[in-house]
Amino acid sequence: MTGPKVPFPCAKLSLYAAASRESSRSRNSRNGRIAQLVEQLTLNQRVLGSSPSASTKPSLKFVLLALALAISLLGISGPVRAQEPDPYAALSAQDLRLAQIAERLLTANAHLCRSQMPVTGLIIHSYDQYSDDTRPPEFGNGTVAVANVVPNSPAALSGLRRGDVLLEIGGALLSEVSPPEEVPLRDAVFDVIAGQSAQEPLSVSYLRADQSLLVDMDAPTGCLALFEITTEKSLAARSDGRVIQISYPLAAIATDEQLAAIFAHELAHSVLEHRARLSAAGVRKGFFGEFGRNQQRNRQVEVEADRLMVHLLSNAGYDPQIAPAFFRSSQGRRVTGALSFVYPSPTSRAEMIEQEIERYLPLREGPSWPGHLLALRDQPFTKD
Ligand SMILES: [Zn+2]
Repeated sequence: MTGPKVPFPCAKLSLYAAASRESSRSRNSRNGRIAQLVEQLTLNQRVLGSSPSASTKPSLKFVLLALALAISLLGISGPVRAQEPDPYAALSAQDLRLAQIAERLLTANAHLCRSQMPVTGLIIHSYDQYSDDTRPPEFGNGTVAVANVVPNSPAALSGLRRGDVLLEIGGALLSEVSPPEEVPLRDAVFDVIAGQSAQEPLSVSYLRADQSLLVDMDAPTGCLALFEITTEKSLAARSDGRVIQISYPLAAIATDEQLAAIFAHELAHSVLEHRARLSAAGVRKGFFGEFGRNQQRNRQVEVEADRLMVHLLSNAGYDPQIAPAFFRSSQGRRVTGALSFVYPSPTSRAEMIEQEIERYLPLREGPSWPGHLLALRDQPFTKD
C-alpha cells in the first residue's frame, strides 16, 4: 500500500537500486500505484518488442498481457498464472503476503523495540488513494475501508473482512481524522491505530451492508512500523524508520523466506533507530547524501542491520540461516550487487552474518536478546 513521503531513504537493502529519487516522488496514491504498474508493464512489453500501444490508458486486456509478460521477463513464477491475471489482484496478493510475514516479525520482536503499536492484521485503504473511476464501491459508505485481513489475525478472529467500512477505532471517529497535505487518509488512520495501547482491547466499529457493528479485539503488541508494497520498477527495499517499503518486482521474485529476510533487514534499521542516529550525526538526507563522507556511516548501519536481522528472524521462529542464504542467492545478488564498492559484497555480507549466527545463535533459534547490538542505539555516530 502507499505511504507518506519518505524524505530519507537511508536504508535500501541494496546500496542503490536507483529507485530512491523516483520512488519518493511518486507513490502517494493507490491510483498512482496502479498507473505506475501499468506504465512499468507497458515499458516491459515494449522492451520485449511485442505489440506496443500508443494509448496512455491501455486496455485491461493489454495490461494483463503485459503483466504476464513482465513476470516471465523476470523469470519467475509470480502470483499471476491464471488465464486472466489481474494486476490489482496481483498487488493485493503481495500486500497480504507481506503483511503475514511482517506482522509475525513485528510481534515476535516487540520487546526489542522502543516504539510499539497494537498489531491487528488489518490492511486498510482510504478513498483518497483512488481516482473516481477506480474507487471500490464500499467507499460510497465511508472514507476508510478494510482492503484485506491477515488470516488468523485479531481482525480475522473478530470477524472483520474485506469491504467493511471503518467508522471508529479506539474511540476515535475516523470522519474527524484529517491527514497532512499530500498524505493519504489511510496513513493518518494508521497513526490512530499505532497510538492505541496494546494492553487494552482495541474497539473497532464498522459498517457492513448498512449495518453498524462493533468489536473489541485483543491485538498483541508489536514494533511500530507501517509497511507497503510499492510499484516502482526496481528491485528495492528501504526503511525510513517509520515506513518499510518493498517493491513489487522484488516481492514477486522472493520466496517467503527471502521476503522475511528482506523485511527483517529493514525492520532492523527501525529497531536500531538508524534514521534518528544518522540525522543526529548530520548525515544529509536523500539520495546524494549517501555519497562522500557519509559512505562510512551508511556502510556501518548496513552492517548493523545485517547482524541484527538474524536475531529478529530467529525470534519469529525462522531459521536465521535464511539471511546469509538470501545474500548468496541469485535474488540476493541481484538486489545487493550494484555499487558494491561502497557496501560489502553480498558474499562478505553472508560471511559476516554467518559469524553473527555462530557467535550469538549457535542453536539457530530464539529467544534472542541481542543486547550487544541494541546498545548501539544509545551510541551516537561521531560528527565529521
Ligand atoms: Zn539496509
